[in-house]
Amino acid sequence: MFKKILIANRGEIALRVIRACREMGIQSVAVHSTADADAMHVRMADESICIGPAPSADSYLSLPAIISACEVTGAEAIHPGYGFLSENAQFVQIVEDHDLAFIGPTAEHIRQMGDKITAKDTAKELGIPVVPGSDGGVATVEEAKKIGRDFGYPVIVKATAGGGGRGMKVAATEDDMESAYHTARAEAKAAFGNDEVYIEKYLQRPRHIEIQVFGDGQGNGVHLGERDCSLQRRHQKVFEEAPGPSITPQERKYIGDICANAIAKMGYRGAGTVEFLYEDGEFYFIEMNTRLQVEHPVTEAIFGVDLVREQIRVAEGMPLSFTQDDLEINGAAIEVRINAERLPNFAPCPGEITQYHAPGGLGVRMDSALYSGYKVPPYYDSLIGKLIVHGRDRTEALARLQRALGELIIDGKGVETTVPLFHALLQEKDIHTGDYNIHWLEKWLDAGGLDG
Ligand code: ADP
Repeated sequence: MFKKILIANRGEIALRVIRACREMGIQSVAVHSTADADAMHVRMADESICIGPAPSADSYLSLPAIISACEVTGAEAIHPGYGFLSENAQFVQIVEDHDLAFIGPTAEHIRQMGDKITAKDTAKELGIPVVPGSDGGVATVEEAKKIGRDFGYPVIVKATAGGGGRGMKVAATEDDMESAYHTARAEAKAAFGNDEVYIEKYLQRPRHIEIQVFGDGQGNGVHLGERDCSLQRRHQKVFEEAPGPSITPQERKYIGDICANAIAKMGYRGAGTVEFLYEDGEFYFIEMNTRLQVEHPVTEAIFGVDLVREQIRVAEGMPLSFTQDDLEINGAAIEVRINAERLPNFAPCPGEITQYHAPGGLGVRMDSALYSGYKVPPYYDSLIGKLIVHGRDRTEALARLQRALGELIIDGKGVETTVPLFHALLQEKDIHTGDYNIHWLEKWLDAGGLDG
């Protein structure tokens, strides 16, 4: 059993991992930048160590600083959280070269899934249905136009190295292709240092359905059903739920078994998410994330399992603590992402929190690193909290979300949050019936949804 784990992250996800460590009797080490010296994860961990200045490139992304922090503190394993170094294969290689354990998959599996073209090819080989599209990278705009004609417009040009919704452009007709192709490449170059792009059929009204999978690295794989993350702005999720309101038990078993078998065949270790677009009863693979997701708590709520604990167990070579047959869905859960952003433009607005009160009561979980007097720094992601509610069914979960949002207080000097967005969404019939797809939120915002 690991005695000490270093958490190479900050904010609510660092707290999430510290909590799992504490319940398992494992010591935790927080790392922080100079801007985060007063952060909650530093206060809550058993030990902490400063790893550099505010910019993440010099601290949370600094491989030498993090490896040295393990050596100084005697940590045996690293949990990367999500974002930062969580999907960096080179980092995993270095961690292992230093005889430290990485709480996540192998460098090889991260590499395989990090490149989206390789990921799609792997998925196809493993029997997972994929979005129709180009056979690999598309090197010229002429080739892009030919693919557009072959598949039929609209199509989407996507960065091979993509992530976080960047490097993606839709071409509605051949006239758009020139600009979509060059813009996607330029964005990809700027964001990822790699301008390779590929093309997919653009689905017009799909839902984003993702399957949570887990492998023990020894040939066993399970799935924990789906999450529906269709409510997105600029390809970024804002509201997630499990189970998906449109997915039948038969569909869940069909796609879940395909994913679990693929994970088993790969010999995959740890948590993973296989993402699909879902339209007219068909699933189309888009990518696999080889880490814990922001929205993992909705899955934890309906299955009653601690996914971070399982990550730690399998990283130590222990078996998963459940089998597929043990996993049964109990009720419905919803997560909303609370960002320090000013509506209606979602402009980041960091600053000092003057008053913070977290909601509580039955079926309410607030994952946040806020406290009264905390200064939200301007250097990092604007996510400041996740409110997760669980009910016996979706109707109860929605009522609970409304009640919990009403209890939540986040006041700050110049700080605003996305909370009003969720109050407004809860007034919408489509949210109550579950009748939405990946374009619903943007259309609603464009139509002045926030003004109502
Ligand atoms: P990223 O890694 O940047 O998050 P993804 O490939 O996961 O990129 O896609 C993110 C989102 O972009 C999807 O959830 C969906 O809303 C949209 N999207 C991606 N591919 C397509 C497609 N072929 N058709 C329609 N929408 C798409």
